[in-house]
Amino acid sequence: ELAARRAGSHGPGRTADGHPVRLLVNIGGPADVDSAGVPGAQGVGLFRTEFLFLDRATAPTRDEQEALYREVFTAFAGRRVIVRTLDVGADKPLAYVDQPDEANPALGVRGLRLARRDPGLLTEQLLAIAAAAAGTDAEVGVMAPMVATAAEARDFAAVAREHGIDRVGVMVEVPAAALCATEILQHVDFVSLGTNDLAQYTLGADRLAGELADLLDPWQPAVLRLVAMVGEAGLAHDKPVGVCGEAASDPELALVLTGLGVSSLSMAAACLPDVRATLAAHTLEQCRALAQLALAAPSAPDARAAVHAAVRGEG
Ligand code: PEP
Ligand code: MG
Repeated sequence: ELAARRAGSHGPGRTADGHPVRLLVNIGGPADVDSAGVPGAQGVGLFRTEFLFLDRATAPTRDEQEALYREVFTAFAGRRVIVRTLDVGADKPLAYVDQPDEANPALGVRGLRLARRDPGLLTEQLLAIAAAAAGTDAEVGVMAPMVATAAEARDFAAVAREHGIDRVGVMVEVPAAALCATEILQHVDFVSLGTNDLAQYTLGADRLAGELADLLDPWQPAVLRLVAMVGEAGLAHDKPVGVCGEAASDPELALVLTGLGVSSLSMAAACLPDVRATLAAHTLEQCRALAQLALAAPSAPDARAAVHAAVRGEG
């Protein structure tokens, strides 16, 4: 492990035997572009655009959006930047977006579903992203939050491509999307697992409910099985499957995710060097063995303990 840690911290993410795992950062806007300087950061896997507009009373214009996106794309010139279209609703309200009064906002008209009510909000954003991308050499892509069906993925991909963006994906953060990953992948270039919401919806536990933290654990067997399904679908269709939830920042879980077929991990910049070093110290075959250990465990604590013991035992 020490040798791997000394092997340098600047190249692309990979396992000890050279299997590539793209390491990306999660950002909320131009205030976070310092993370472009984090050694080993290969780009942005999740640009949470709603964070840009949290304190606004009125909608940003297309030009205002374009300027903000361009700042980010310029900072990551030559690298991948995946922009998530507005993920408004439930835990992320925006003052200028007319939110219905819903009994269960986490299950309501949120994320991509807002486009049913106000398609202009999405198309304006796509136009701003495409315009900003045209002026830089970042590899810009977009992805939609809260996708549940293949039809939603198909429609989003069509709108995004119509508006000039040709790298298009969707988040898999609703169990239905994980179960239908094969069908979804036929319409998009990639998917990215949002393990925060995937745990919330799979375990039926509000992500803001602190006392349910044990249920929201991404090591939960039900969550890992869904990740495995999506990973298999990605390998079968030769399309990239990423993880951009908090799960990606746990080094030992990153090994498991890699073993399940995940090919990119996007996380808070501060976590990236540790994940990178841990991956570099394990072969793909070891990752696959760890993934099997985790999948076979009866509970989240058991999965975590089994993988931890195995990782310790290697040294
Ligand atoms: C997620 O749900 O895991 C995710 C990455 O998105 P957010 O945390 O912004 O909902
Ligand atoms: Mg989410």
